[in-house]
Amino acid sequence: MILPPATLGMLGGGQLGRFFVSAAHEMGYQVWVLDPDNNSPAGQIAERHFCVDYNDYAALDEFANGCAAITTEFENVPADTLDYLAKFVPVRPHAAAVAVCQNRIAEKSFLRDNGFPHGPFAAIDCEDDIRNADASLFPAILKVARFGYDGKGQATVNNRDEALIAFGHFKGEHCVLEQRLTLDYEVSVVLARDENGKVSCFPTGENQHTKGILDVSIAPARTTGCVKSDAEDVAARIAEKLGYIGTMAVEFFVSRGQLIVNEMAPRPHNSGHATIDACVTSQFEQQVRALCGLPLGEARAHSASVMVNLLGDLWYDGDTYREPDWAKLYAIPNLKLHLYGKHHARPGRKMGHFTVIGDNAEQVQKTALAARTAIG
Ligand code: ADP
Ligand code: MG
Repeated sequence: MILPPATLGMLGGGQLGRFFVSAAHEMGYQVWVLDPDNNSPAGQIAERHFCVDYNDYAALDEFANGCAAITTEFENVPADTLDYLAKFVPVRPHAAAVAVCQNRIAEKSFLRDNGFPHGPFAAIDCEDDIRNADASLFPAILKVARFGYDGKGQATVNNRDEALIAFGHFKGEHCVLEQRLTLDYEVSVVLARDENGKVSCFPTGENQHTKGILDVSIAPARTTGCVKSDAEDVAARIAEKLGYIGTMAVEFFVSRGQLIVNEMAPRPHNSGHATIDACVTSQFEQQVRALCGLPLGEARAHSASVMVNLLGDLWYDGDTYREPDWAKLYAIPNLKLHLYGKHHARPGRKMGHFTVIGDNAEQVQKTALAARTAIG
């Protein structure tokens, strides 16, 4: 077990990393963050910020030297970097698990080869792969295999010709072509798995997206018990198959009553933010615990919750850039506001979120919607 006041390493400095730093600090650890962005939200509050690229091996040496264990907050850390660091210090999750989740072709192939429920897809490496794709895939979504997030690197295509044009726009990047599914709704399971293989799932959340970006997450999900238990079971088996250690998330579609895995995230997840305020243990404390070889905390929710993302759009009143009126949110006593310390708001950029908690799920939903309308 790695105990306080040991120093933990975090690769990536976004809001997920920032919440990890906060959780680790409260538990008595110190944290070093490695992220090439000078203003990174996590770097601002860590004991040290290595403002370098992920393949700066001299910096990686120094980083590994000072950290008792290292984890990541985003899936695009090069797998080679994780492998390199693992020569010196425990790295959790391991590079191979991250490699599966960071490439949509590897991810879909993993789901298919291990018998997990997934939607119809084809790997697209060249134009001929589109010409030869099964006609039943259309209408479809073409997604770049790597580095897509929040709906970026995706094109909705109705037929083969549109897919060829979209593939051209992605400049030859490898892609997956996915059948566009009719979604009843979307859910996600955030879980933690420890070094002994014990899995602990947070309550399944129901996720609503706007323009491909998570907008609202409701936990517990308003769905049948059977979808919930199936989702938890599939998510836990995926974590086992990956030999995963740490916090991870599995996003699901429910399409015509069928549970289908959409994608996995080898890190805490936006839909798990409500765990900070609504659960006995947060997804970030679980990440610290799994990383350090501590027993997992209790994942039970003590409150119903609705989490609402705050995007940069909120900072714009027409063309005027101004700070939103936070007093309106602080007026609500069961609302928890979290801002990520990002220096500039851009439309679509995740700047913060709030979570409304309470005993009565319907009341919580009403309050959250009212708060959302009030802020803009
Ligand atoms: P990201 O990495 O940006 O989260 P996703 O693959 O999860 O990418 O896509 C974002 C959202 O777009 C999904 O949550 C869902 O609402 C919608 N979407 C993605 N793929 C499909 C699909 N095959 N059929 C229908 N909707 C989809
Ligand atoms: Mg997604």
